[in-house]
Amino acid sequence: MSAMLRFGPAGMPLNCKGKRLADGILYAFNEGLGAFEVEFVRGVRIRKEDAIEAGKTAKEKNVLLSCHGPYWVNCCSPLKEKQQTTMRNIMQTARAAELLGAKIIVFHPGYYQKQSKEAAFENALNLLKEIEKKMKDENLSCFLGLETSGKKAGFGTLDEIIGLCKKIKKARPVIDFAHLHAITNGGIRTKGDYEEIISRIKKELGPEYLKEMHCHFTEIVYSDRGERYHIPIGHSNSPPFRPLAEILAEKKYKFTIISESPLLDMDALKMQGIVQKLK
Ligand SMILES: [Zn+2]
Repeated sequence: MSAMLRFGPAGMPLNCKGKRLADGILYAFNEGLGAFEVEFVRGVRIRKEDAIEAGKTAKEKNVLLSCHGPYWVNCCSPLKEKQQTTMRNIMQTARAAELLGAKIIVFHPGYYQKQSKEAAFENALNLLKEIEKKMKDENLSCFLGLETSGKKAGFGTLDEIIGLCKKIKKARPVIDFAHLHAITNGGIRTKGDYEEIISRIKKELGPEYLKEMHCHFTEIVYSDRGERYHIPIGHSNSPPFRPLAEILAEKKYKFTIISESPLLDMDALKMQGIVQKLK
């Protein structure tokens, strides 16, 4: 699949009548979108034949697929039982991704709970390395997309995500701009704020990590503990999409931007339109 700037919804497009995943992908394509994130946030439930059919549709229409794994995984947990559930859920997501032809699976790495940040990092590193090895044994080729956390209690500051990516070959940072905005009490306002995030990834991990970077975007309402809920693009400009659009148009980054706004595909189209007008 050719590298290009792509926008897509996190899950089924709002007005899609069809129930099957392939219907949703086709619907997004017909709207003019080039990406689609398959949501397994409440569990990896898809029939093998449906996954294969969806993957075929996506390939035919040049729609880039990604998968979002279950919310309850916690790579940071010191408990054997939780580690096993986490491993099982991430492996299930990776197997579904393989059938779909998705190149990255996204998940929130975990929570600190009562541990130090260092202990949470070590646990996540060990478990993710084990998962990486298991995936290799099963010939599963997708990347492990580690999403930046939107809650202060959640593991996954930009530094922590970069730190894990340095040590795990198959790990890739997934930049959720709304989450970064929420945990920095509204720290993303200007083009410079976006540029700083992007240049940190380039400097710490290397320019190849920017090539096809996977991102989430929505506007967000937050409190001093972080994320509260997502709101549509243009509602409060928190964070503002426009400065990022300017960077995307100028630098011609081939990012994938998944819309996690309540308006999903509609806001993916809205964002895509804003960038196109700037080109
Ligand atoms: Zn996200």
